Amino acid sequence: MGLSGRILIGMVAGSLFGAALQPFSDVELVRGVLLDGVLYIGGSIFLASLKLLVVPLVFVSLVCGVAALEDVSRLGRVGLRTLALYLTTTAMAISLALLAGVLLSPGNGFDLSTSAAFEARNSPGLAETIIGMFPANPVRAMAEGNMLQIIVFAGLFGLAMTLAGERARGLARILGELNTVIMKMVTILMHLAPYGVFCLLGGVFAEQGLSALAPLARYFLTVTLALAAHTFFTYPLMLRVLANIPARAFFREIRAIAAVAFSTASSNATIPATLETVEHRLGVHNSIASFTVPLGATINMDGTAIMQGVATAFIAQAYGLDIGIHGYLTVVAMATLASVGTAGVPGVGLITLAMVLEQVGLPVEGIGLIIGVDRLLDMMRTVVNVTGDAAVSCVVAKREGLLNPPQT
Ligand code: ASP
Repeated sequence: MGLSGRILIGMVAGSLFGAALQPFSDVELVRGVLLDGVLYIGGSIFLASLKLLVVPLVFVSLVCGVAALEDVSRLGRVGLRTLALYLTTTAMAISLALLAGVLLSPGNGFDLSTSAAFEARNSPGLAETIIGMFPANPVRAMAEGNMLQIIVFAGLFGLAMTLAGERARGLARILGELNTVIMKMVTILMHLAPYGVFCLLGGVFAEQGLSALAPLARYFLTVTLALAAHTFFTYPLMLRVLANIPARAFFREIRAIAAVAFSTASSNATIPATLETVEHRLGVHNSIASFTVPLGATINMDGTAIMQGVATAFIAQAYGLDIGIHGYLTVVAMATLASVGTAGVPGVGLITLAMVLEQVGLPVEGIGLIIGVDRLLDMMRTVVNVTGDAAVSCVVAKREGLLNPPQT
């Protein structure tokens, strides 16, 4: 059986095992040995090893990728095209979500007394966000895993290496070899992914009873529906129209990354798997993938935008407030920006939702209404987030003539 198949089995088995353990999660032996023991330790080690690879992988791969582009003007074109596609797909995602939220009205007649406490944090302003992309200290950027700063530094480094030409040939070779070694580490780790995914999902489903879903079932289903529509309609359309890529083949190749994204709920932690799949299974050249994948994991969050769209409509309906067409247009713009500002780690989408609600004058405490089901939705929307990164990578590569799917 192929690796993707084994990862999917790990995913299903882990979820079922966790759900079966859930009624016994207070039994001391079950908690001590399984939940806080095997599952917790196994899951944490897997997550740590994925994260361990992210910074060196993004840096080395991006330097090599930029250096391989050779032509500097191409860099600008690839950058602009990627950015345009990321923003457009996100705006489409949020529009779809608002449509679903208005048509299905999940918040109408909702019992407000079920709200949990939620305290909003201040989000940084636009100026700080832009300035924050430029690293004053590359070592600190790497130590903190600040992805945008690492991307800027690596891009500059790769560019300088290209300009240095012959004199940097040795360094380029060494970095190329380093890239191969790190990619090998990713491959090794992916072989452990079925067990890692099993432990992570076993832990989540053992803690998370499905009873929290009941009062929010309509909200949950509306988000799920919008996520599915975006995944199975918008992406296939984009792949077909802009790159003539059949959706079926695309979805077959990304199964493994979908499973990793689902179990980690983190686009960032999924970067090694996404990069490996996009380059080796979908055939995107390293010079494109090394740029589009980390950038996408940081700024392209279609799934998050969908949750924010439905959540806004839900909260407006639950509180009986009408934000009008102007309000909805503001939500499209704000949620697109919010998804850019959402880091690819678990649960951040809910925090940036506060910014969207504030802009249209909806009560931020409304987030307390939906917090109970957010863990599961976070896992699902992360799958959509990384699917978007992979799809845009394919389209950009195709337009540059740098897509060569391996013949199987
Ligand atoms: N967990 C999401 C991601 O990493 C971000 C979010 O929506 O919270 O892609």
